[in-house]
Amino acid sequence: MLHSEKIFNAGVVGAGGAGFPAHIKANSKVEYVLANGAECEPLIHKDYELMLHFPKEISKGFELLIESTSAKKGFFGVKEKNTKAISAISQHLNGKTELTKLGDFYPSGDEFELVYEATERLIPPAGIPLDIGCVVNNVETLYNIALAEKDIPVTKKFICVAGAIKKPASFFVPIGTSFKDVIAFAGGSKVKDYGVFVGGVMMGQLTFDLEEVVTKTTAGLIVLPKDHYLIKRKNQPEQNWHRIGKSACDQCSYCTEFCPRYLLGYQVEPHKVMRSLGFTKTGASVWNQMAELCCSCGLCTLYACPEDLYPKEACDKAKVEMRDAGIKFVQQKPMKVHPIKEGRRVPLKQLIMKLKLQDYDVEAPYNPEKIPVKKVRIPLQQHIGNPATAIVKKGEGVEEGQIIGKISDGELGANIHASINGKVTDVNEKFISIES
Ligand code: SF4
Ligand code: SF4
Repeated sequence: MLHSEKIFNAGVVGAGGAGFPAHIKANSKVEYVLANGAECEPLIHKDYELMLHFPKEISKGFELLIESTSAKKGFFGVKEKNTKAISAISQHLNGKTELTKLGDFYPSGDEFELVYEATERLIPPAGIPLDIGCVVNNVETLYNIALAEKDIPVTKKFICVAGAIKKPASFFVPIGTSFKDVIAFAGGSKVKDYGVFVGGVMMGQLTFDLEEVVTKTTAGLIVLPKDHYLIKRKNQPEQNWHRIGKSACDQCSYCTEFCPRYLLGYQVEPHKVMRSLGFTKTGASVWNQMAELCCSCGLCTLYACPEDLYPKEACDKAKVEMRDAGIKFVQQKPMKVHPIKEGRRVPLKQLIMKLKLQDYDVEAPYNPEKIPVKKVRIPLQQHIGNPATAIVKKGEGVEEGQIIGKISDGELGANIHASINGKVTDVNEKFISIES
């Protein structure tokens, strides 16, 4: 069986991003394959721990992907400061692969940044790495590809739990486990009232609902007291972000000057997008276009803006308005990396200080113990494409690893598997619940 078929059967999706089905990348023909181990979300260390403890599996997955794509070379992106991970991984990489050592900046793990650092190629505006002969995979995706080769499907997610937590750690969790169970396994929260940033404080979502569950793309849970600066900022009603921005933005343009996409040469100019909050509809449609190539990294809102305004959120809103209006943005300026790009990079330590997270900046070591989980609620949509179709019924007994949600041949999506042994207690169009 081809590697890509095994990857499809095992339901592997991009573990570090939006959940793009991995078999499609494995099926393409490219020049370069890149491994992304450049984790840069503050406080999240799960890729580092995975590289440290499972270098053989990650390297095997990388090798399989190089083989299936017929790539001539692999680049393994990892932060230079992570010397232990570098030495663990280096022992298993073959001669076709080069290490790309990265600085400790935010957002070093952005696909566009990594591709440029490794290959000196720029992904075209609104394009994907495939457009320039590259595929990029997160290290956990590579780990899952190695397991898929042995017919082991994706039933667990490796996550990092950090912040105001008693025992910050990285560990495997059955997919569909509630945040409540995950936080309890990490010793519980240090504070009574807290919120949880799912996937990180920069690009993740804030929730107070502990019944939400871990999916194939959950990188980590950052627990913070409800009165923390970041929760207060994120928890403002959306209309306030835009109302305050409309009156208080003085067009200093710091948000643009620090924007990593702008510095790479893309026409992203959040200070101009801010103008759309105060201008007429016609004006907004013009200024909104400067948001189309924004990757929502959050640096403009949480680091650059001296007035604590919300340019990233203005860009998110602008992108929706552009889509609704059917406007397609085409970059006018030629792509050219900004001459001062290196000087404007944001050191992670500095970002952590600005976010008032220095008290939580600790290691999150790998905990090999098995989390006791009696109940899971597995989403049928954990990936880009169509949701899987449930193929089990309420009352049916299932075993860990058994396929319970299917994607038809030719459809974009990923299969779903039972993450624990037990009985199916509920099936609806969104979830399959299992109790042991
Ligand atoms: S940095 Fe803040 S104040 Fe300055 S232009 Fe951007 S949004 Fe406006
Ligand atoms: S969120 Fe802000 S800094 Fe990040 S890419 Fe978008 S505009 Fe640039």
